[in-house]
Amino acid sequence: MKDRYDYLIVGTGLFGSVFAHEAIAKGKSVLMVEKRNHIAGNIYTEKVDGINIHRYGAHIFHTSDETVWEYINRFASFNNFINSPIAKYGKEVYNMPFNMNTFSRMWGISTPAEAKAIIDSQRREIETVTNLEEQAISLVGRDIYEKLIKGYTEKQWGRSCTELPPEIIKRLPVRYTYDNNYFNDRYQGIPTEGYTAIVEKLIEGADVVLGEDFNLDQARWRSLADRTLYTGCLDEFFHYSEGRLQYRSEIFESERIEEENYQGVAVVNYTEMDVPYTRVIEHKHFAKDISPVTWISREYPVDYEKTGEPYYPINDERNDSLYRRYRKLADADGSLIIGGRLAEYKYYDMDKTVLSALRKAEEII
Ligand code: UDP
Repeated sequence: MKDRYDYLIVGTGLFGSVFAHEAIAKGKSVLMVEKRNHIAGNIYTEKVDGINIHRYGAHIFHTSDETVWEYINRFASFNNFINSPIAKYGKEVYNMPFNMNTFSRMWGISTPAEAKAIIDSQRREIETVTNLEEQAISLVGRDIYEKLIKGYTEKQWGRSCTELPPEIIKRLPVRYTYDNNYFNDRYQGIPTEGYTAIVEKLIEGADVVLGEDFNLDQARWRSLADRTLYTGCLDEFFHYSEGRLQYRSEIFESERIEEENYQGVAVVNYTEMDVPYTRVIEHKHFAKDISPVTWISREYPVDYEKTGEPYYPINDERNDSLYRRYRKLADADGSLIIGGRLAEYKYYDMDKTVLSALRKAEEII
């Protein structure tokens, strides 16, 4: 440890780590402080039984941005994984995202024209789209909404689809082709050595302190550097002075199973309300890891109060305006930089996180 650094970075997730790399590359000294006992934030992976386990949920790297793809490939080699999850509703099995395979299984039809005709007739009931339920029915019709969207979404968000904003569902592709690729992006894959190895390379040259909560003694930590990049929750940074931001949390329950192949695919969505989890991930399928046993994780969406682990921001009017108040306070602090999913209070795919960190580094360092 030095007496003083150019940058203190709070959080060793993807945003903080890319920023750290750029700072070090420009000759700056970096100290990173991390609340957890490991680096890499929610992209942390850990090898057990020869299988890379995504401890905080499935992370599939996908991007259409050439710069980001080239950048991330400097720190890892990626396999050719294509995410093609399936959805289970009772005993019924459907391909995701919504495409001709889904429509054909749902209605026993085979051509795009037949699928369109059914969806058109079912969407006639919707006049204007004001919530997620109406958005979903107008995209894929009522049958698919009832079986594959309603239960999953209400479990995921803990709210009725009529109270959720339409934007959430717009992230999912709807296609009139037999294409089960979940993403529309040009590049996609899983790093063969896992995500933790990427972060290890990114932060080479930084001093790292694990298991220490910056927010318990901000003044001491900040006195160690000229500038601070903070990637945690802004309401926590300001000791909740304006009120609490809301998040949706998750519990990942991992289990080792004495079986070579449990579900035959990396991701299975459980779309019924009666099953308490939304997804089961079978980790070995991400990188075709060879092992006589397997590891799965069930993903249970829960209230943030239950875990204290913030995952998804709940971007409604109340939270967004509260966030803007915190953001104003943060922006008024000349030696404070903020960035990343938590500090910006927005849903971020990994590629957007990398791009945003690169831009921030270019602007500041
Ligand atoms: N969704 C759904 N059924 C599914 C998968 C997704 O209704 O089987 C909806 C749900 O509302 C969810 C949204 O699509 O919140 C976005 O899903 P995505 O898989 O992109 O979520 P993430 O992986 O980011 O949790």
